[in-house]
Amino acid sequence: MELKNLFLRDKKVALDIASDIKKIAGKIEEEIKIMHVCGTHEHTVTYYGLRSLLPENVKVIAGPGCPVCVVPAREIDEAIKLAMEGIKVYTYGDMYRVPGSRRSLADAKTEGGKVQVVYSVGDAVKLAKAEKKEVVFFSVGFETTAPIPAAYIRNRNIPENMTFLVSHRLTVPALKYVLDDPEIPLNGVIAPGHVSAIMGASSWSFVAKEYGIPVVVAGFEPIDFLMAVDIILRQIYRGEAKIINEYTRVVKWEGNVKAKKLMHEVFEEVDGEWRGIGILPRSVFTLTEEYKVYDAREKYDIRVEDVMDFPPQCRCADVILGKATPIDCPMFLKACTPSRPYGPCMVSSEGTCSIWAKYGGYDVIRRKDE
Ligand code: SF4
Repeated sequence: MELKNLFLRDKKVALDIASDIKKIAGKIEEEIKIMHVCGTHEHTVTYYGLRSLLPENVKVIAGPGCPVCVVPAREIDEAIKLAMEGIKVYTYGDMYRVPGSRRSLADAKTEGGKVQVVYSVGDAVKLAKAEKKEVVFFSVGFETTAPIPAAYIRNRNIPENMTFLVSHRLTVPALKYVLDDPEIPLNGVIAPGHVSAIMGASSWSFVAKEYGIPVVVAGFEPIDFLMAVDIILRQIYRGEAKIINEYTRVVKWEGNVKAKKLMHEVFEEVDGEWRGIGILPRSVFTLTEEYKVYDAREKYDIRVEDVMDFPPQCRCADVILGKATPIDCPMFLKACTPSRPYGPCMVSSEGTCSIWAKYGGYDVIRRKDE
């Protein structure tokens, strides 16, 4: 491990920052709600028990940051329909067990559907070239994972038997939706480091400008996260609202200009559905006219009906929006566990329910809420 990463997990440094956080929070009387919108941030916070270091009046809330949890059941049903009709579907491991309306791709495979887990779009292209039959790559993720499929598509490095079921979502419209919701009053935002590496720190400046609250682009080590909370609290105390890039070792103000150009050559932004949220304007990618030949929705009739985003009692929609935590759900660690997931937030390594179930930390929340 690199020296800088060891420093970023140093207990003494963490406790020093936590002590500073307590001092500043003590000077702010109101309750402070800070939202992050990244499953990896939730993993850092929960895995390292960082909520236990925060004072009573500072709450860190997980927002819509799990890219597979927000894929609507309809799109998973579409992939399942293809698989059951004999068209091989390549999918990432994180997506494999996420339930659609009634079953997941993993269930479909046990019922004879053609499904194969791959690590990357590159693997899918290689496998497709060796495969004689029709194949579809289920291209899922936020802005972070869109540039690589975009590169393969732009270079037309795709065999004739392969198309894409595009299911990429954009994080800025989702955060705008949350910030516009009066039920979720926020005092600060921690912006996702991975997405920002592509889109740039500049893509979050609207949070400070339009909503008047601080926003910090943060990395994924414990010190990164505590620093971000500290910076936000200092701004609140001083009555400021600025964008600060804490993750300068990876994120540039303008982002990865080449990757953004590539994505926008191949994909265009259209209104689209989010699980737990509904339709958000200009929030999903679809292939541009020039590359429609690679669009599985153009090639096959994959319309599905009778779609159901969440099973009864599952509170994943509220968990995705930060309106509830997993412990507010009656199914959490009872009828819904990582080995027997009932709702979509219990499946992925970035799903809040799955993270809380695996690493705990919810006793801290219970104590603070009592
Ligand atoms: S614990 Fe399971 S059922 Fe409850 S909200 Fe999370 S995913 Fe849904």
